Amino acid sequence: MDKLFLLEERLKDKGIRLTKQRSNILKVLIDAKRPISAQEIFNRLDNKDSKLRLSTVYRNLNRFEKEGFLKSVTLSDKEKWFELADRGHHHHLICIKCDDITPLDCPLKDFEDELKKETDYTILEHRMNMYGICPKCKISVEN
Ligand SMILES: [Zn+2]
Ligand SMILES: [Zn+2]
Repeated sequence: MDKLFLLEERLKDKGIRLTKQRSNILKVLIDAKRPISAQEIFNRLDNKDSKLRLSTVYRNLNRFEKEGFLKSVTLSDKEKWFELADRGHHHHLICIKCDDITPLDCPLKDFEDELKKETDYTILEHRMNMYGICPKCKISVEN
């Protein structure tokens, strides 16, 4: 079944009224395939919906996060990025020049198991971001 349809149904279950703007925001998040900022979402929707305000995008994103539809990622002190919560555990590779973000599979499963055995801790979570300069920005630095 269509992912947008499923999300919209879950929204209604939570008592969140389905508006065209909310539906458009969800569409952008589904298409993004990586974390995306409120500003980027706003930019993508701005020419489709001239009545949309950036503050509305922020408000909806925070609401969606509170209801568990989204996870926010703080990758730098500049801004918060959002992605759909159902994408599961993973990490991010971030370009410090252009903020391009690539999702990464988790490489820490074995390490976590070993750590559990060694320390007898119950490990609840871990966080890791990798920072660097993407190929596109590397070219513009070199020239
Ligand atoms: Zn870059
Ligand atoms: Zn991980």
